[in-house]
Order: sequence, then C-alpha cells, then structure tokens
Amino acid sequence: MITEENHQPEDAEESADEKKPRRRTRRRNQKDDHLLLPVIVNEETLLLPHMSIPFPLLDDDTSLAVERAMRMTPRHVLMLTERRIPRNGEEDEDVDSATRDFLDIMADMIASGDDEGARRLAEEADEADLALDDQLLDDDADYELCEWGVIAEVGQYITRPGGQNHVILNGVARGRVLDIIQDQPFVAARVERAVEPTHDPAETETAMGAMLEQVESYISMLPNVPEEVLEMVKAVDEPGWLADLIAFSPEFTSEQRQEMVETLDPLKRLHTLSVWIQRRLNVMNLRHEIQNEAQAGMDKQQREYFLREQLRAIQKELGEGSSEEALANEIREKIDAAGMPDEVREKALVQVERLEQQHPFSPEIGVIRTYLEWLVDLPWSKETEDRLDLEETARILDEDHYGLEKVKDRIVEFIAVRKLAGDKHRSPILCFVGPPGVGKTSLGKSIARSIGREYVRMSLGGVRDEAEIRGHRRTYVGAMPGRVIKAMRDAGSKNPVIVLDEVDKLGADTFRGDPSSALLEVLDPEQNTTFSDHYLEVPFDLSKAIFITTANMLDPIPPALRDRMEIIEVSGYTELEKLEIAKSYLLPKALESHGLTTEQLDVKDSALKTLIREYTEESGVRNLEREIGALCRKVARKFASANPPEHVVVEGDDVHDYLGVPRYEYSLAEEQDEVGVATGAAVTSVGGDLLSIEVTLMEGKGELILTGQLGDVMQESARAAMSYARTNRETLGIPEGFFEKHNVHVHIPAGAIPKDGPSAGITMATALISALTGRKVRKDVAMTGEITLRGKVLPIGGLREKTLAAHRGGIKTFLLPKRNAKDLSELPELVKKELELIEVSHLDEVLDVAFVNNPTKRRRKSSGTPKPSGEPGDDAPNRKDRKGRIEAPGGKEPVPASVTP
Ligand code: ADP
Repeated sequence: MITEENHQPEDAEESADEKKPRRRTRRRNQKDDHLLLPVIVNEETLLLPHMSIPFPLLDDDTSLAVERAMRMTPRHVLMLTERRIPRNGEEDEDVDSATRDFLDIMADMIASGDDEGARRLAEEADEADLALDDQLLDDDADYELCEWGVIAEVGQYITRPGGQNHVILNGVARGRVLDIIQDQPFVAARVERAVEPTHDPAETETAMGAMLEQVESYISMLPNVPEEVLEMVKAVDEPGWLADLIAFSPEFTSEQRQEMVETLDPLKRLHTLSVWIQRRLNVMNLRHEIQNEAQAGMDKQQREYFLREQLRAIQKELGEGSSEEALANEIREKIDAAGMPDEVREKALVQVERLEQQHPFSPEIGVIRTYLEWLVDLPWSKETEDRLDLEETARILDEDHYGLEKVKDRIVEFIAVRKLAGDKHRSPILCFVGPPGVGKTSLGKSIARSIGREYVRMSLGGVRDEAEIRGHRRTYVGAMPGRVIKAMRDAGSKNPVIVLDEVDKLGADTFRGDPSSALLEVLDPEQNTTFSDHYLEVPFDLSKAIFITTANMLDPIPPALRDRMEIIEVSGYTELEKLEIAKSYLLPKALESHGLTTEQLDVKDSALKTLIREYTEESGVRNLEREIGALCRKVARKFASANPPEHVVVEGDDVHDYLGVPRYEYSLAEEQDEVGVATGAAVTSVGGDLLSIEVTLMEGKGELILTGQLGDVMQESARAAMSYARTNRETLGIPEGFFEKHNVHVHIPAGAIPKDGPSAGITMATALISALTGRKVRKDVAMTGEITLRGKVLPIGGLREKTLAAHRGGIKTFLLPKRNAKDLSELPELVKKELELIEVSHLDEVLDVAFVNNPTKRRRKSSGTPKPSGEPGDDAPNRKDRKGRIEAPGGKEPVPASVTP
C-alpha cells in the first residue's frame, strides 16, 4: 500500500464502491452564490491549498468527476475525505498494539525516506499475518464525508509507465460542503469557498518567525533533507500558506492534515502545527540522546580494543610479546619442567590457554595464575634419595636426643624394614604420645635427617574444618589448597617426612565436614596415592611420604585414626635426665644461638638444677629450654655491655639474680607423720605431682562432705572408701554408733584445681581410716591405686609420672597396685634405685605400710576384737598434733589409737 506515491490504498476502488451506500448526506439550503462542484472522495486528506499532487484515476466515480470538472471553467473539483466514524466508546483502539507499533515504525521509515526498509517491513507484515488492511479497513465500520474539503484545479493528465492514469490536482482554497446534490454516477455538491481571516501583520510575522525557527531545528534533526526544502519554506510570506506547506510534509498524518483543512484561521493553524512539531522534536531529542549514549559506550570499548590491539602489535614488532603471552610461555616452561603426570599436565595447559584468552584487566587472570603456580610448584616427580644406614640413623638419633632408648630402637627397626622392603611395605604410621616438650616433634625431624629426607611439620591443633586439610573449592573467593598440599609444596620433594603434630587436638564440627576423615585419606596407603585436594582438582600422590604423628593424649584421637597408628609412648624425664639433657643438648644449643662460648659462660649443674626445680614444672624440657635461653640472653647482655666480664659462672642460687623470683614450688612430702593426712600421686598435664588428702571429723549425722573440686569418679572413690570403713568398722577398731554421730569431711588441696580419677582410692581410704582410728600416717609414704568395696587394690595408669613426682618430692616408699608390676620396667633406673616400691593388692597391706607401727596387721593376725576406742594408747594423738583435724568420738576426748602393740 505504500508503494503508491500518493498513499492511495490499492483496494480503494472496490472499497469505495462498497462504502458509498453508507455515506451520510447533508441537506442544506441552496444559495445561488455557491459553487456546484464534482467531488473526488478519498480516504485520506492528501491535498492542501497551494499544493499539487498527482492523483490516480482508479475508479469510475473519480474519472467521471474529473471529466466533468474538465468541462467546467474554472476546472474545479472538491477533494473530500471520507472518514471512519468511531463506534461508541471506541477510539482507534481496535487496531491492536502490535499493529500500532508496526505502523509507527513504518511511518518513521517513510518519514526518513527509507522506502526500501518500509517495503521489507510490509512484506514481513504479510508473512506475520498482521492484518493491517483488515484492521484499518474494517468493512463493518461506518463512514462519513467530512464537511470541509479542498477545492482543486484539475491539471494535466499523466500516464505512468505502468499504464495507470493520473491527473494533477492543484489545491486552490478550502471549501465547505453545503449540500450533496447527487451520488451517482459521481458525487456532486454545492460548496462554499472559505475566506480565511486576516491578522495584524506584526502578530503574523512573529508567529511565522517562530514557526520557521522551529522548522529549521526540526529539519536539522532529520537525515537527508535537502537544503532547498528550507529555502522553499522560508520563501513563503503568507501565514496560511506557510502552515499548509508544512502540514503537507509526509511527517504529518492524514488526520492532522484534515484538521489543518478544517482550521480556517492561519495563525491558529500555525499554533497547532507548532505543538505537533514540538512533540516530535521532544521524541527525537530523546531518541538522539539514547543513541548518543549507546554510541559513546561502544566508542569507548572499540577505542580500548584498538589501543590494545595496537599495543600487542607494537610488542610483537619489538619481539616482546604481550605480557600475558610472556607469562603463559613462562608457565608452559615450568609445566614442562615440573614432570607432572599427563592428566595433570593437560589440565594445566588448558588453564594456560584460558589465561591467554583473558582480557588484560580481567580479575580471572590472578585466579588462574595462582592456580597454575600451585600446580607447577608441587613436587610431582622430585624425590630425594634415601640413606638407609642403620648405624648412621642410630648415631643421628643419639646426637639429637638423650635417652629415649626404647623409642630410638623402634625407629631404627622402622628404618630397617624400609631398607629391606622399600616402599612396598606398608609401614604403620608412627604416633608419639606423651606430654609436651619431651621431644616428639624433634624426633620426627631427626628421623628425616637420619635418612636424608626433607622435613615438614604440620600442626593439626584446632583444625576443625575439613577444608583446612583438603582445601577450598576454587569457586570460593581466595580459595587455597589444604595444609597437606601446602606441606608437600614446602617440602619440595614427594617423599618428605611429614610430622602431623597434635592429632589429638583435631576438632570436629558437623557443619564444616570432619577433618579426621580427610586425614584418614591422607594416611591410608590404599587411598593416598590419589589424594584429591578440593582446590587442585587433580590427584596428588602422597604415598611416598612418611607420616609421623604426635599427640599429648591417646584418648581424644579419633578411633579410626588410632587404628592406623603404632603408638609409641614418650613419657616425661626425671630430674636427672633433665639435667643431662640440659647439660649436653639444651645448653650447647642455647650458647651457640646466643653467640656465647663455654669459656665465656659456665653454667654449673647446681644452677641447672635450680632452673629445673624452681623455674619449670613440666614433664618435658620445653620450658627448661626457654629458661636456659633467658639465662643466656641476660648473660649475653653483660658481654655486649661497655665493660664486658671475661668469664661468667652461674651456680645454684645465682639463677635468682638473673631470672628473678622462683616461679614454682613443687609438692614435697609432708613434714611430719600426721593423723588424717595421706599422700597420693597424680598425673597432671605437665607430668606427675604429689597430692595430699586430708580428712577431718566433726559432730554430725554421718554425712560425707567432699571438697576440693573432686570429679564424679573421685567422689565415688571417696564413698567406696567410706563404705569400706563402715563395713569393717569392727576390724578397724571404730566404736559402734560412731558414724551416726559424726560427719566426715574429705578435702584435697589445692582446692581450686579440679581433680578426678579413681587412682586416689587407697589414699583416701588411708586418710579416712587414719582419721577414724587416730593412727598417724607415715610422711615418707606415697601411694596410688583404685579401691573396691572389699578393699582390693586395682591398677592405675601413669605410674612413671607418679613415681617421678614421688622421687622428686622426697618420698621414700611408694605403694603401687600389684597388677601394675609390669610397668616397673619403664621406670627410670634412678627412681627404681632410690624409691622403695611396694606392690599391694589389698588395703590391709597399704595400711600396714602406711601407718606408723602397723597396728592393723597385728590386730588382724590376732583377729581379736579391737578395744573400743577412747582408751589411750601409744599412738594416741595428742590434741595439738592433730591440729584440730580430729575430735574424740562424741566430742569428748581425742580419739586414741585403738590397740597398743
Ligand atoms: P614435643 O613435640 O614433645 O612437644 P619438642 O620435640 O618440641 O617436644 O621438644 C622440645 C625441645 O626439647 C626441643 O628443642 C628438643 O630438642 C628438646 N628435647 C626434648 N627431648 C629431648 C631429649 N631427649 N634430648 C635432647 N633434647 C630434647
């Protein structure tokens, strides 16, 4: 439909025919001065006064009307528009929105002279079945003839190449239909020629000036408008003509043109036009703005792109290659050198390619680069050669550590097996268990040194997150490999000795995965050949590494892990051993690291002993090492001063001058034999210690009071001891009814330190029976053992620590459960030599040894009924001696020892 120059619908012919019967006719009073004119009815307003158009003669009506006009003088016709009458409530809404958009776009294209585009669009509309014609030329619609039309002079006939006849119509003036005179064979009407009102010239000029300005800026925004158009517009000097000329432009719609026809007042026409043009200007401005913005964005990107390309070209010219290229090449070389397995190598090369493809400022570059650096830094094929010489191993172990014979033997065996079976043998993971500072970690280091492998230490203390072992997936920001892979990188060889410190401190957190299961995978020879780290995403072979673990306690180690390990206990050192270690290992090391020589500083044994006794309280030697370091620092300062001494000797209490007030006082044996007090031994976090248990009696109703932060198990031991005493009241010589009238208070200092465990059972029983019978307990006896209700003594743990504490505390006799006899071999020789160790299996035996003068034994032998208490005997405690700890039954006289020998 747009292919026709005059925008005449193709089917105008037939539709015109059909619509005629619906035309409304107007009847007006006929006046003689009115014109009688043939009428050309058209669906659009095409013509305006002063304008010319070629008009196609498509139907008989038109041809007849034109013919009739040609025979008149002047040869006038009336161009009249037939328009659709909107139905009730309906505006143009029945044209759906897609069609409306379509029409808008098309109108724009036509306006900007893009006929080709408009043609294509029309074809598309056909294909898309957009029923433009149907919608616009709705057959059921009603039509009417407009009241106002344009009187035109019929000009020349033209025959177009296609055979279509046209006639030139020149607009003359506005004309109003007064009356339709005939309908057939062509329409004829009585017409009144309009006279346009005139205005004040100044007003007219202003309005025209304003309009010209507006038109000028409008035209400037349209593409491809020839300059002549503006010239032509400027040449018009009549306001009405100007308005018509502008409205004649294809920018305006038929309806708008019709409105122009119907507006007689020229200034009013200019005003209406001005509003329309302004509206279009606004739309165009907005469109320009949007286009400009989009363009600016594109320009910047393109500019950067070109600059970058230029930069690359320049770098290439200079033989430098781009920085990414250089980086990629460097990494490729490293990949080649790393000796990765093929699968890993391929993955790495894919990443290098990705790296090269990145835009130079892409944040991905850093991520990919870090990943690749991790890959190339790992020891994929680097391996150190083992030196499996047993004598050498033994020598190095001795060189680094004093004592620890059993442990060293086990290590040598471990290495012997490796020597014979090589990697084929799945040797168990060694686990050194013992208190801090006894050399567990440094043993691992010595093993590495003795067989010539790299050494790395990895602390597991407080690791609660699986990702710490196995790494974070790369999708996380700042993702990193886990500790195992880090350790391998630090080692720089694939067969290092890795010490996993503090496996017992491994935490577990249900929310963050279980680190112990990840660790299992690390340690399990079945699985660790292809250990997968979340970050690396490629398997790494850990099977060549030797893993050694350490722990302070056995119990907290997850059982699944413990199953994979061979436990080797490394217990604490005696004072003498510490002295040896300090003299031969710690002191020389400290001197060297402080830049001192033995000539300059002479630390005597007595000084070392003071350090051990008064400045440390531990099973190992870690704090001792620190204190020796502190001492060396103080002395080094003297040597570095203005008046350096020649030689410094540190002896015994000199240490106080350097290190200040002593920090510890360890428990010593009681100063004298007492009633109601017995000495036990306990294992503490720093080794062993002595523990005195006090029992006192008071008037009451047979309650048992327990204080000193005793744990559940310890409280139960106390009750068991009490029950034993009550059951054996007669045998022990305790008067009848005594328990009903007395409360028994058991207290274990120091009150602030929590204590637990069953091993104080016999000690509590001894203190209790001593209090109840008034017999004194020997101050130089210490004991350990669990007690049953029948007085049997059950075995305990930590014998070594306990005997060490007893030895250090000046105890002479140590009672231990018979069933612990097997542990005696572990005790240091010195302890065995200086401490009288007595194995006991029943409380009677304990009391026999612990009480001064052993009255029980004799009494049991005689199996006679003990004399009621209250009678004074040899051991009857004097009231002052007992320091108020005991009162006489019934609150009368002090309780006497029951039987005299
Ligand atoms: P742990 O791992 O058991 O806590 P470390 O291995 O860290 O203890 O040892 C602490 C310090 O004590 C180290 O400097 C170590 O060399 C030293 N040490 C421990 N035991 C001995 C020993 N038997 N002979 C020599 N030095 C020792």
